[in-house]
Amino acid sequence: MTTPAVTTPAVTAAATTAPATTPAASVEAHGTEARGTELERRIAQDPGGFRVLTGDRPTGPLHLGHYFGSLLNRVRLQNLGVEVVVLIPDYQVITDRDTAERLGEYTDGLLLDYLALGIDPARSTVFCHSAVPALNQLMLPFLSLVSVAELNRNPTVKDEIAHSRQSTVSGLMLTYPVHQAADILSCKGNVVPVGRDQAPHLELTRTIARRFNERYGAVFQEPDIMLSAAPLLLGTDGTKMSKSRANSVPLGATADETARLIRGATTDAERHITYDPDARPNVSSLVLLAALCLDRDPHEVAAEIGDGGAAALKRTVTDAVNSHLAPFRARRAEYAKDLTFVRSVLRAGNERANALAEATLDEVREAMGAFR
Ligand code: ATP
Ligand code: MG
Repeated sequence: MTTPAVTTPAVTAAATTAPATTPAASVEAHGTEARGTELERRIAQDPGGFRVLTGDRPTGPLHLGHYFGSLLNRVRLQNLGVEVVVLIPDYQVITDRDTAERLGEYTDGLLLDYLALGIDPARSTVFCHSAVPALNQLMLPFLSLVSVAELNRNPTVKDEIAHSRQSTVSGLMLTYPVHQAADILSCKGNVVPVGRDQAPHLELTRTIARRFNERYGAVFQEPDIMLSAAPLLLGTDGTKMSKSRANSVPLGATADETARLIRGATTDAERHITYDPDARPNVSSLVLLAALCLDRDPHEVAAEIGDGGAAALKRTVTDAVNSHLAPFRARRAEYAKDLTFVRSVLRAGNERANALAEATLDEVREAMGAFR
């Protein structure tokens, strides 16, 4: 098929501006912002010295939290010249559920989203867990480097257990952050654009890299997290927008579905609209969403709506989201006409990921003095 153009207003509006200068950057804590700015400076100086590893579980359609939390940064980094590796962690689907139903359908959906967003298969890699056996070998020495107490106190895992559909907690639920360390370190990923829920996992990856190096010799770099201006977008029920929580606005939704979902979003009793993420998290998350889509300052967006109340806020958000995503949605529909091409992207990515992980595993075996 002919490849639709990858540079579009939907991506470039937010993607060509460094996070430190986006209107909503002020929502980030200063410490994170400063570290982020330093990382941006280093990337701009030497994009070839960085490799991104990040991904999304094939548990449902991607949503606005993914888009503003991680996806835009992936495309922006790719376009800066950073090698981007995107993982579809299919084995991670069964951390918190008993079946892997609709895995193929959701994987196709993620591939369509990536391509429509501008992930370019000529420069970037998309792969899935089940196609890269070396990952699981890396996990074994890594598991020996963390304590059960460390695994037990991971706040994101605790939250996921609380929202899980299972009555018991599986070993995979407790250890998937170690698998994630294997994902990142298997390809020597050193920059990880993710949402805030991933911060404890990234810390664990850094710990594993450090402990491995101390014990066996320097093999790994400690990767940096990259948070966006929207590191924790809330869903329509006021908790983290998540594929599994029936509270998300999918990127691929129609304009009407988007309007219906946003109309149902939780707000609060105060009519006057302000941007105050600490005191008014639900209203502020909606304001931020509109501001990001419009590439404007959230305080200004809130002030303009003012006494219009929640109904006017939701109309503003709906219009902003629908017009921002319209080009993306059109490209996605084009790609959906040729799933053979779409799936070939994953096959090629699996090959590349296997080569990267095998090379890292060789280094690990050598550092450990393994007999082969
Ligand atoms: P699930 O409910 O299946 O866990 P999810 O919506 O939490 O799905 P993940 O696949 O777990 O999505 O996460 C993929 C990436 O998107 C991660 O980097 C994660 O931090 C980021 N992300 C997910 N939800 C949000 C959100 N609401 N705001 C910002 N980033 C998010
Ligand atoms: Mg999740």
